[in-house]
Amino acid sequence: MAELMPENTPAKAHAVQLQAPTITSRAASATGVDYVHELDSGRQGPEVLVTALVHGNEYSGATALDAFLGSGIRPRKGRITGAFCNVAAFARFDPASPDASRFVDEDFNRVWSLERLGGSGQSSELERARVLRPFVERATYLLDLHSMHEPCEPLLVTGLLQRNIDFAQSLGLGAQVIVDAGHDDGVRMRDFDRLADPARSEIALLLEAGQHWDPSSLQTARNALMRFLVASGMIESGDVPPGWTLPDVPAPRPLVVTHRIVAKSMAFRFVQDFRGGEVIARAGELIAWDGGEPIVAPYDGCVLIMPSVKQLRPGVTTVRLGRRA
Ligand SMILES: [Zn+2]
Repeated sequence: MAELMPENTPAKAHAVQLQAPTITSRAASATGVDYVHELDSGRQGPEVLVTALVHGNEYSGATALDAFLGSGIRPRKGRITGAFCNVAAFARFDPASPDASRFVDEDFNRVWSLERLGGSGQSSELERARVLRPFVERATYLLDLHSMHEPCEPLLVTGLLQRNIDFAQSLGLGAQVIVDAGHDDGVRMRDFDRLADPARSEIALLLEAGQHWDPSSLQTARNALMRFLVASGMIESGDVPPGWTLPDVPAPRPLVVTHRIVAKSMAFRFVQDFRGGEVIARAGELIAWDGGEPIVAPYDGCVLIMPSVKQLRPGVTTVRLGRRA
């Protein structure tokens, strides 16, 4: 049996190797909404929305989006909108305490229900989400750029709809395609309203590029952004600047999330320093302890997805368990 990690091991932050982008020049915008920019071809076509900084400390996507907006690349049809989302949280980023600026009042990526956005609740994140809502509502394609607490290979989170799984599989990004239903503690932007309607055709993907402050996350975010714009027909592969894409890698079979393990206590500990992607060979093998309660693999060949105790508190997802489709 694996050994217990010592109680109260502090969840130390990873080194900040990737410099935070300077995006203050993106504040003023012709859209009338700060940090939201449009590139309009003047021709009919898709409405592509690229979002970054949904979590204030995940800035590889913001660096990639900022570089794209400044690149001179223009859509050949339709309109591309780039939005830096939780800029209030990002403004608080401090390399000495890099995990602290994920949000101001609450997780921006849990407020995307009609009830919360239309309700009377108040928070820094709700206020910003209400301003950004029209851009999300008009999007026919959404790419939401994130990164992860722990070093891990890139993931594309698709939700449950086959159209998103197929689109993710087609990108040649080599990322693990994660099929999941979302979270109990609130709705993600990528699951908002008609984006999650099986009768419609909108595409919504969430990229987890790698560890937040690892330079490889920037490469992955840029690669994903370029591939997404080519796949949605907005640009052609010849428009992509040299070095902005990586070689084509076929996607592995999707990983279907079967369980989400939610911490019940502050004493939640993994039995190993899991990074994600580990396959637990046998049902019943120990994965973690939550106080005195063992968390074990529910079936053979169970894959660990995004294990982390960086944001540990009761009610927070500490790991997802997936089965290869
Ligand atoms: Zn995130």
